[in-house]
Amino acid sequence: MLTSPRNISLFISILVAIVTGIFSALMFFINSSDIWKYLLVEILAIFIIAYVITFYTIRKILINKITPIYKIIQQTGNSNLNNIDSFDNKNLIEEASKDVTNWFKLKTREIEKLKKLEKYRREFLGNVSHELKTPIFNAQGYISTLIDGGIDDKNINKKYLEKADQSINRLITIVRDLELISKLESGELELNRENFNIVQLLKDIVDLLEMRANKLNIKVQVNSGEKSIMVNADRPRISDVINNLIVNSLIYGKQNGTTTINFYDMENKILVEVSDNGVGIEEKFIPRLFERFFRVDKSRSRDQGGTGLGLAIVKHILEVHGETIHVRSTLGEGSAFSFTLNKA
Ligand code: ADP
Repeated sequence: MLTSPRNISLFISILVAIVTGIFSALMFFINSSDIWKYLLVEILAIFIIAYVITFYTIRKILINKITPIYKIIQQTGNSNLNNIDSFDNKNLIEEASKDVTNWFKLKTREIEKLKKLEKYRREFLGNVSHELKTPIFNAQGYISTLIDGGIDDKNINKKYLEKADQSINRLITIVRDLELISKLESGELELNRENFNIVQLLKDIVDLLEMRANKLNIKVQVNSGEKSIMVNADRPRISDVINNLIVNSLIYGKQNGTTTINFYDMENKILVEVSDNGVGIEEKFIPRLFERFFRVDKSRSRDQGGTGLGLAIVKHILEVHGETIHVRSTLGEGSAFSFTLNKA
């Protein structure tokens, strides 16, 4: 009933009128020269009664109105709300309005985050299917040609089988990278830290990549004054990081170029830097390099078997180690990627 301002005012006015009437009626029976004293008592009594009635009526109405709103807010999972009973009488509306505003800001932020995630998920799915489509269709094309008679044609049968094999290998690389990145992102991947010689690991990787580097006429040199630098990290994962960085320096290197690996001592850390004098990267692209599937030069990356996931994986692996990766690059001059590791 007490929902509109008119009803509330009517209720309070009737109560105050009744109380005033009762007191005024009492005055008729007082026949004393000290009537002003009684008048004072009457005024005081009316004031107190009117105050108490107004206070409790308004408070009850406000609480009745605000409580359901709070219940709804609490159901949406906000635990930061004040307890409505604890509100200072003075600040009831102010506190409630502050809480609702904070709740609104929090929810707006959450919605923005969800929208971004949804966009990211859509883009990711689109990218994955796009990446998988090319090798699948290529392999299917070669195999269909072989089935349709190509198998008996000595000029193409072996070549097409090799091409189909290459496409399937590419699919395997993409799926392996995707698996690794989703493990890294979901926090599933546990590190197996051990002490190992980072200089030796680099030399082993460089040996394995020697043929590829020779084909591109790129010299890879490991500059380590000391023969052994012991670090504490997950060896296979750091091997992935280094492999990715050196392979990139070859893919985006120039003919007759050089890839150099340097080590810098930083007290309890060691900084590893892989630099090249290759094509370099335009400054505006640098912040995006570590996004999944981001490529500056798409065709060069695909031609060389790049999945566009390498640097995203590198960044994640280093983050799990509590480290970060840094890039310096000048278009046309070359790039340097560096990261630190804890010394053993
Ligand atoms: P990709 O498989 O395409 O190499 P990455 O995630 O490893 O994917 O690298 C993302 C992009 O960053 C590459 O496509 C390339 O444009 C750029 N990039 C990476 N390393 C270098 C480098 N050393 N020099 C120039 N550009 C590079």
